[in-house]
Amino acid sequence: MVGYIRKVLKNSSVDGPGNRMVIFLQGCQFNCIYCHNPETIPVIKSDKEGTLKIMTPSDLVAEVVTYRDYISGVTISGGECTVQFDFLETICQKLHENKIHVLIDTNGDLSEINLKKIMPWVDGFMLDIKAVDPIDHKKLTGKSNEQVLKNFELMLEANLLFEVRTVIIPDESNSAHTVLWVSQKLAEKAPYTRYKLIAFRKHGIDKSKTDASSPTLEQMNYYKNIVTKAGLKNIIVL
Ligand code: SF4
Repeated sequence: MVGYIRKVLKNSSVDGPGNRMVIFLQGCQFNCIYCHNPETIPVIKSDKEGTLKIMTPSDLVAEVVTYRDYISGVTISGGECTVQFDFLETICQKLHENKIHVLIDTNGDLSEINLKKIMPWVDGFMLDIKAVDPIDHKKLTGKSNEQVLKNFELMLEANLLFEVRTVIIPDESNSAHTVLWVSQKLAEKAPYTRYKLIAFRKHGIDKSKTDASSPTLEQMNYYKNIVTKAGLKNIIVL
């Protein structure tokens, strides 16, 4: 078995707690209008252009282990890392066996069976909830959010939700509805979970997909107030 890896970042302070190695796997089943890394979307099974690293789970984990004294843990991201599920599961298991802290950065669109398979090997999930309204979600990503919202509940119940993120794009979706829904759910069960509100920005996106404007500072404060009023204690606005 091999994995198709877009990039490995040896040091990151923004992808989870502490200094983290971040592994970006190729491929995503969504096609978000605001994706900043559209080159990571195609699911690739061979690398004719030589832009990817192709590695076995053992080789990748051996590389991580050589850095273990310099990092707090590993965050596995994408694209959408769960698209290469068997590879992901194997590296998570091996990292866990090596006692390395593992976070999964995901859009949440994986089957319940796969989610339950991977849970024993990870320390937490960083989950994107792009929209709660199904029509908005389809418009933003091209796909349904049914499984994402189910998995949100399962991650909450398992106490494995490290962070939730929502990109604020009021011109294209009902961001207030999403922010309120997520905040109320988190406030009820896990009010110390970090909720990150990310202002939509145009740089790096495929501009043919949207001509939406970035939210203003006042708008971002409005969304932050929704979260605060719901009772969440850990809010980040970017
Ligand atoms: S889920 Fe992430 S990687 Fe996939 S298309 Fe959306 S923004 Fe891009």
